[in-house]
Amino acid sequence: MANKHLQDNPRARKKFRIIGFISFSIGLICVITAMIDFFTADFMPKLFFLFFIGMPFLFVGGVCLNFGYMRAVSKYTATETAPVAKDVANYMLAGTRDELAKTISAVRGEKVSNGPMCGSCGTQNEVGANYCDNCGKMLSKVCSCGEKNDSDARFCRKCGNRL
Ligand SMILES: [Zn+2]
Ligand SMILES: [Zn+2]
Repeated sequence: MANKHLQDNPRARKKFRIIGFISFSIGLICVITAMIDFFTADFMPKLFFLFFIGMPFLFVGGVCLNFGYMRAVSKYTATETAPVAKDVANYMLAGTRDELAKTISAVRGEKVSNGPMCGSCGTQNEVGANYCDNCGKMLSKVCSCGEKNDSDARFCRKCGNRL
């Protein structure tokens, strides 16, 4: 409920951004100063207490910035990141699927081919093959119209001519 109210209130979000930015900057300066003092001090770091002042500022600043940019971030995530992530996932899945099929075929010792099966000896031939790899039998009947038909076809699937 509070989030929704905040998302519908651009002025509140702007305030959060400004407060967040200032608070975060103060916190960062305090912490860095404390760190520099801590590592450069000869005996006892005198400014290390700034660390404990800076940390709450950093925290508050971070929370305010989070609120201030929440909508922009969620909008960006929804419109930009999600489709990209989906595409990447699909791309990877498709690639994996193809690779998997190839791997399985390779493991089984099969030839990866979707070409015509020889009606005479049963050999699976390469895509676009006209004659059987194994026995030399014609795998397709080319019609006078140019359409390539199965070797056992009696009529052309494109123009209906008798083969
Ligand atoms: Zn054959
Ligand atoms: Zn034809």
